[in-house]
Amino acid sequence: MLTPFIDIISQRRVIGPAIDAAILSVTRSGQFIMGPEVHAFETELARFGQARLALSCSNGTDALTLLLRAWGIGPGDAVFCPSFTFAATAETIALTGASPVFVDIRPDTLTIDPVHLRASIEDVTRNSLLKPRAIIAVDLFGQPANYPILRAIADTHGLKLIADSAQGFGCTLHERHPIYWADATTISFFPAKPLGCYGDGGAILVKDDTLYDHLTSLRVHGQATARDIESSGFAHDPKYLNLRLGMTGRLDTIQAAVLLEKLRIFDTEIGLRNRVSDRYTSGLAGAVAATPTVIEGGLSVWAQYTIEHRNRDALAAHLKSRGIPTAIYYPIPLHRQPAYAGYPIGPGGLPVSEAKADAVISLPMGPYLDDGIQDQIIGAIREFR
Ligand SMILES: *Cc1c(COP(=O)(O)O)cnc(C)c1O
Repeated sequence: MLTPFIDIISQRRVIGPAIDAAILSVTRSGQFIMGPEVHAFETELARFGQARLALSCSNGTDALTLLLRAWGIGPGDAVFCPSFTFAATAETIALTGASPVFVDIRPDTLTIDPVHLRASIEDVTRNSLLKPRAIIAVDLFGQPANYPILRAIADTHGLKLIADSAQGFGCTLHERHPIYWADATTISFFPAKPLGCYGDGGAILVKDDTLYDHLTSLRVHGQATARDIESSGFAHDPKYLNLRLGMTGRLDTIQAAVLLEKLRIFDTEIGLRNRVSDRYTSGLAGAVAATPTVIEGGLSVWAQYTIEHRNRDALAAHLKSRGIPTAIYYPIPLHRQPAYAGYPIGPGGLPVSEAKADAVISLPMGPYLDDGIQDQIIGAIREFR
């Protein structure tokens, strides 16, 4: 193979020793659960993401679950989300007992289509018994959704707005992070994401203290918060005053220590990712049906570099024969998946999501992709007929 599809090892040439030292330091301290690195990382993460508060958690899926549960979203509620996304976006909605309502994407940026979103909310309001509660926008492949418009729609209808930034943490729109517009941002540190750790991890960015307190409680089995204790007279460990149904949702200290090191170079890596994407875009001009379009004023973190091709599957086979791995995100939109077939979709169906599922193909992408190897990938695509 010319290169791995997502190269998570090359970074070790830059910060491997620092990460290993950070891990060893946690092993020596023995503070594997909620050690000091966890809080230190939350502070740095909030600063990086321009958020008032950051709460680390077990993974990007639990980040969504914690939020939906904190807002009391459940049976009878509708949560609007794109169908062209990773399953976790809709899965968490369905598992609360609420109904995901699938909305189409824009043909250029592939993020949720605000026009179809508006029509879908009006349709649910008029024609169903479901109560619209929230919108989950996805920063697909690393670029921000159209947050100014989504915020206006959320305000018109009294809905919460979540930025599912599992793939997009670090992306900005006019130099602002999604939390500027969203009520909360959820992040995944799965190793293949742009800011990945050495296992599973996640976080939630919020701007509201009450919500933050509620989330800290849900993260540890609904344990009492400092505020709860004040008014309760309870004199024992807050873990043993359980006011809500929560979960085991913590980030491991070792992962926080890894992430503290990785966050230091994340800004530089976002720059490198943009250099790689620029080289692809100029190298592939005219040779494929579409190279990626980023929203005006947007900065992508390029979780994926995804092109469109009329003969996508044959292109994948051709590249494979040259030792070049590719991936299809996503071959089946969620509304066409057996697990989600029973949930509502916006009016007129989701033609863009369905067409894109047949045309997209993602190329090897990462901050350390070698120029020579990238030129071979570009050459192999250009020679394919
Ligand atoms: C990866 C991903 C998630 C889930 O993150 P995990 O850490 O794997 O649980 C959620 N939403 C989107 C859009 C993702 O890409």
